[in-house]
Amino acid sequence: MPESEGLRNEEEAERLHEPRGIPLHNIHRHDVVIVGAGLAALSGALEAAKAGDVGVITKLFPTRSHSGAAQGGIAASLANEEEDHWEWHMFDTVKGSDYLGDQDAIEIMVREAPSVVRGMEHMGCPFSRTEDGRVAQRKFGGHTKDFGRGGPVLRACYAADRTGHVLLHTLWEQCVKHQVRFYSEYYALSLIVKDRVCRGVVALDMATGEVHIFHAKAVLLGTGGYGRAFSITSNSLANTGDGLGLVLRVGIPLEDMEFVQFHPTGLYPHGILITEGARGEGGHLINDKGERFMERYAPEKMELAPRDVISRAIQTEIDEGRGIGGKGYVHLDLRHIGGDKIRELLPQIAEVVLKFVGVDITKAPIPIQPTAHYSMGGIPTDLDCHVLADGKGEILKGLYAAGECACVSVHGANRLGTNSLLEAVLYGRRAGRALAQEAKGGLPFAELPEEAAEPTLKELEWLQGAKGEEKVADLRTGFQEEMMAKCGVFRDEKDLSLLLESVKEYQKRYQKVGIKDRSKCFNTELIEAIEFGYLLDFAELIVAGALNRQESRGAHARIDYRERDDTNWLKHTLAFKTDEGIRFDYKPVTITRFKPKARVY
Ligand SMILES: Cc1cc2nc3c(=O)[nH]c(=O)nc-3n(C[C@H](O)[C@H](O)[C@H](O)COP(=O)(O)OP(=O)(O)OC[C@H]3O[C@@H](n4cnc5c(N)ncnc54)[C@H](O)[C@@H]3O)c2cc1C
Repeated sequence: MPESEGLRNEEEAERLHEPRGIPLHNIHRHDVVIVGAGLAALSGALEAAKAGDVGVITKLFPTRSHSGAAQGGIAASLANEEEDHWEWHMFDTVKGSDYLGDQDAIEIMVREAPSVVRGMEHMGCPFSRTEDGRVAQRKFGGHTKDFGRGGPVLRACYAADRTGHVLLHTLWEQCVKHQVRFYSEYYALSLIVKDRVCRGVVALDMATGEVHIFHAKAVLLGTGGYGRAFSITSNSLANTGDGLGLVLRVGIPLEDMEFVQFHPTGLYPHGILITEGARGEGGHLINDKGERFMERYAPEKMELAPRDVISRAIQTEIDEGRGIGGKGYVHLDLRHIGGDKIRELLPQIAEVVLKFVGVDITKAPIPIQPTAHYSMGGIPTDLDCHVLADGKGEILKGLYAAGECACVSVHGANRLGTNSLLEAVLYGRRAGRALAQEAKGGLPFAELPEEAAEPTLKELEWLQGAKGEEKVADLRTGFQEEMMAKCGVFRDEKDLSLLLESVKEYQKRYQKVGIKDRSKCFNTELIEAIEFGYLLDFAELIVAGALNRQESRGAHARIDYRERDDTNWLKHTLAFKTDEGIRFDYKPVTITRFKPKARVY
């Protein structure tokens, strides 16, 4: 792999004066710098590498990104197993989003989905196959035939229950082949933005504790989701939403943060994901009375209704005392599917359940509960993934975002399963193409300001020397539990108001943290403190957004405002973090083909 150019030329060295002790060999230069190495980032890196030189900064080794944990599938109306059309996929996605998804962005996604899967297949991605050798497809919640008039459709392409793993490995191999330069276990600390132009990234080399500067013509954020804001989550430890913190600190708003997806089937008590594919293959949800309770909530689609509907159903069963033995879980029963089929199609699930709770899923039902899973909101972008400085039309030059950290709004108020891997690969690819254009266009590097790393270095120095009495681990645990209890599947004004006060309290307490570990090499105490700082910043927007939105739509269920209110709330929230507090603005939803209707399953 090529070495980064570095800034060895003397004129530049003179100009930069080795800012605050950052040696010149720690100052790198790439046409394009990408933060993250999940599907969105790698898909972007691969495209951008066709036109220019790309550096990828990632806090995890690339193949450890959360995308690799995705199980069930990636949606595309390939019609390999039965009739299907992109228009059906579009309708389902719009309805699934509770009409908050932007239909121009959705149309791009569903039209191009087959090309995404074929593209991955041509790169060698080992999908499961039909008997005649085509990519196999399975059912998933909310994906239907004939504009919702028919039953569930076989649309999710998969590789057993390891779909994300094979996609991620395939893209990573291709990036290596195309000479993308990886900086693994580098933690992005801040964006370098001056005069409304993003010029690079400041990052910490976790192995040495040294600060590096990455100078770029353009930066793509593919930093993933923030499930770790909640105590019960399907997300990996690293999913702390850092990218959201990075953009908030340069004054960019976040969009639709109140919409957090709770996946219905998290393993009890940990919250580890049991893929929706398990219901796609025929699994039943059963309460303490032995009832298939979905009959009462979604009589037609049953266990294949969308996630928000099923999570509310499960939570209601639990809250009304019909959890198993009166406890906080219900059962997911797969036994009738048969041992052979389970071992072939859901091997990882069988292993995880056995290892974590000692249940053999061919012989006994799985204890499950809703688990924080996915962030529908995020960094506002346009259709080419440019980050929007005002959340609406003003592009912040040189900055892009794609994947779960971004909100181009294909998922609106609720995401359908298998649409996220699709979004990540597809919009990552679109970002990569736009970046390639930008890099190819002969754009010069915008000048790196001398004080590029200054605020970041100050903050880092403060944390490295922090001697306060508060412990990050304790603060984080308390905070995650409160988020789960007061901003979970069901919400109301009283709890959200209390929680908002609490978040502010946590922000104050954070100023008094102490870091005991003074080492430079893989100082995880320090990294976790930085992560928690970002998390506290954007979590305030989740809570304030949820309090502000006085309606129920998709995953945002207010028990004090039970109805969807299109008159007042058919609009996207933009939340700015200002010195005076949070300021809300709004923008209209793009509606093209499908007018809002009542959402019944
Ligand atoms: C258990 C599980 C199963 C899922 N199953 C499915 C499924 O079957 N189908 C589907 O469509 N969706 C599924 N999803 C959702 C989907 O996997 C994710 O939304 C998607 O993979 C996100 O991809 P991404 O590229 O945006 O981010 P990620 O894959 O999460 O990658 C984020 C990257 O950002 C890097 N990063 C973050 N912060 C920093 C920082 N400060 N500095 C440097 N690097 C940083 C990380 O190192 C990582 O490489 C699942 C999610 C989970 C948790």
